[in-house]
Amino acid sequence: MISEAQLAGYAARSDQSLGRRYPEAPAESRTEFQRDRDRIIHSTAFRRLEYKTQVFVNHEGDLFRTRLTHSIEVAQIARSVARNLRLNEDLVEAISLAHDLGHTPFGHAGQDALNACMQDYGGFEHNLQSLRVVDVLEQRYGSFDGLNLNFETREGILKHCSLANARELGEIGRRFIEKKQPSLEAQLANLADEVAYNNHDIDDGLRSGLLVDAQMDELDLYARCRREVEGIFPGISGRRAINEILRRMINALILDMIETTRARIQAAGVVTLDDVRNAPSLVAFSEQMQAQATQLKRFLRANLYQHYQVNRMTSKARRIVRELFGAFMAEPELLPPDYQVQDEGAGQQQARAVADYIAGMTDRYAMREHGRLFRVGEI
Ligand code: MG
Repeated sequence: MISEAQLAGYAARSDQSLGRRYPEAPAESRTEFQRDRDRIIHSTAFRRLEYKTQVFVNHEGDLFRTRLTHSIEVAQIARSVARNLRLNEDLVEAISLAHDLGHTPFGHAGQDALNACMQDYGGFEHNLQSLRVVDVLEQRYGSFDGLNLNFETREGILKHCSLANARELGEIGRRFIEKKQPSLEAQLANLADEVAYNNHDIDDGLRSGLLVDAQMDELDLYARCRREVEGIFPGISGRRAINEILRRMINALILDMIETTRARIQAAGVVTLDDVRNAPSLVAFSEQMQAQATQLKRFLRANLYQHYQVNRMTSKARRIVRELFGAFMAEPELLPPDYQVQDEGAGQQQARAVADYIAGMTDRYAMREHGRLFRVGEI
């Protein structure tokens, strides 16, 4: 990490931060964004990421990515790019490590199911939930709820947001209404997320056997990197070949992102963070690389995320989330006391508390809780 004084003019600086919601004395030995990162690492929600998954349910094997290892990979990619562009590594790391804190158990299947359950109560959206975790749900400080993070960290966590929700969020939602951009660090964490999951899902897909080697050359980027690897290491095969190919893919995506973003910053005449906010989105791939990244995404959707064996897991996951929600709403007295809303007729509030409880569960906790509620003989 270079010191904040050496950052580019368009980088975010903690001494120019829009600040925390509750004023605090400055840290003695860290920048304010380092402090945000440290608060995130010490949070309960962060530890739970170890037992939450995106594609593969946690108990299926010890080698697959979890949301924790995914978040660490996102931070690694985002920091590499940030250092090259002289952006704020501490901020990009804080955003990356926090970006998935609001995810439900069982990845997207869990989120979709919970959103469907919450339709009459304002819906459920994992980005918004990540912000809710750091703003409200973590209980670690005597004088405020949440982690009291800086504005720039919070705006990075809130990647997307509907206009209706943006209006309710006040300052942090304003950019969605005014159609402005967040910091480059926030944009970067967002694209690093994509690089990380596209590549590690290929890796996990091959490891699980749901993807097979023969179909991989459908992907231009994979085929190109494979040719390169086989040229350097004739006869290479198995995991070693896959790893050599994947690291080249990640590298190609990162290099392209650095070059393209640097050129776009220059072309837009961006000098300050304010310019960044008023410019179009600047962190991007070149057109050619974007086409390959899109191909990668489509390939994964068709061949992995909708594989019948994955469908079986997601179907089960949806059922668990739906049944938990239904049971808790019908009988709130089954909830731990902290999640029981005392006012009669506070349906909306009770639903939100149930959603918070379910979203906070790890995969295995959700399965266990489901067993405790629905299986005779389990306590
Ligand atoms: Mg992610």
